[in-house]
Amino acid sequence: RIRETVIPAGEIGVTFDDIGALDDIKESIQELVMLPLQRPDLFTGGLLKPCRGILLFGPPGTGKTMLAKAIADEAGASFINISFSSFASKWYGDAEKSIRALFSLAAKIAPAIIFLDEVDSMLGTRKQSNEHEVSRRIKTEFMTHWDGLLSKSSVKILVLAATNRPFDLDEAIIRRFEHRIMVGLPTLESRELILNKLLSKEKVENIDFKELARLTEGYSGSDLKNLCVTAAYRPMREILQKEIETKKDKDKQSQDKKEKQTQDKKE
Ligand code: ATP
Repeated sequence: RIRETVIPAGEIGVTFDDIGALDDIKESIQELVMLPLQRPDLFTGGLLKPCRGILLFGPPGTGKTMLAKAIADEAGASFINISFSSFASKWYGDAEKSIRALFSLAAKIAPAIIFLDEVDSMLGTRKQSNEHEVSRRIKTEFMTHWDGLLSKSSVKILVLAATNRPFDLDEAIIRRFEHRIMVGLPTLESRELILNKLLSKEKVENIDFKELARLTEGYSGSDLKNLCVTAAYRPMREILQKEIETKKDKDKQSQDKKEKQTQDKKE
């Protein structure tokens, strides 16, 4: 079954400014997505047509979903997040109906971005011998509607997809993504920028960002975020520990006082 979550334009809550590094990707997006929306007069056909499909690929946690949301935010578009939970639908017809409903919803709320996370699980290779019949139908239906977008230049719908396994995608699907953007693991310089971004709203002092970036080779943006979250627990634990000790001291003082009063009474 196909499940979708819709975030209306203006309520996405992720902006390009929240993303550390990835400047070259942000620039490409500006040209591929924003410009056709802002200056449709420049994209009147021929070689320059509005872009209908962008594939973001790369290792897990490198910010692909974040980028997709920020693109929708920047474009003032609604964000339709599609997850494909299972092919095991008894009602094969339902899957095709869902795709039709998806595209008609997108047209209704356009400008809209249809985001397919882990697109390989939904539109994976047709060569797999165990491919389920319903999966094949979904792909065919999806491609038909997607192709329909190409012929209508006025419809503002973009299919954005993310995958860690681009080679598992069906060739016919890959071809339809006019632009494929690699989102790789961050370099030393990028890690420093991402760490700066992640900690920009926190009260932190004396952090050697360069050294931290050097020590985190191989970390993705998501790993860096987890590192910061883990580190944030430390001062919190210290505060809690102090509170516990202060309470213990107070309890002890009141216990001592009580004991002294009892003693005084006895005397
Ligand atoms: P997956 O392939 O596993 O779905 P992904 O590439 O879509 O991962 P995200 O889900 O976008 O990665 O990133 C996970 C989290 O990591 C983000 O919510 C964000 O907190 C952090 N993150 C990743 N990259 C960046 C970045 N460049 N700047 C700031 N935060 C980042």
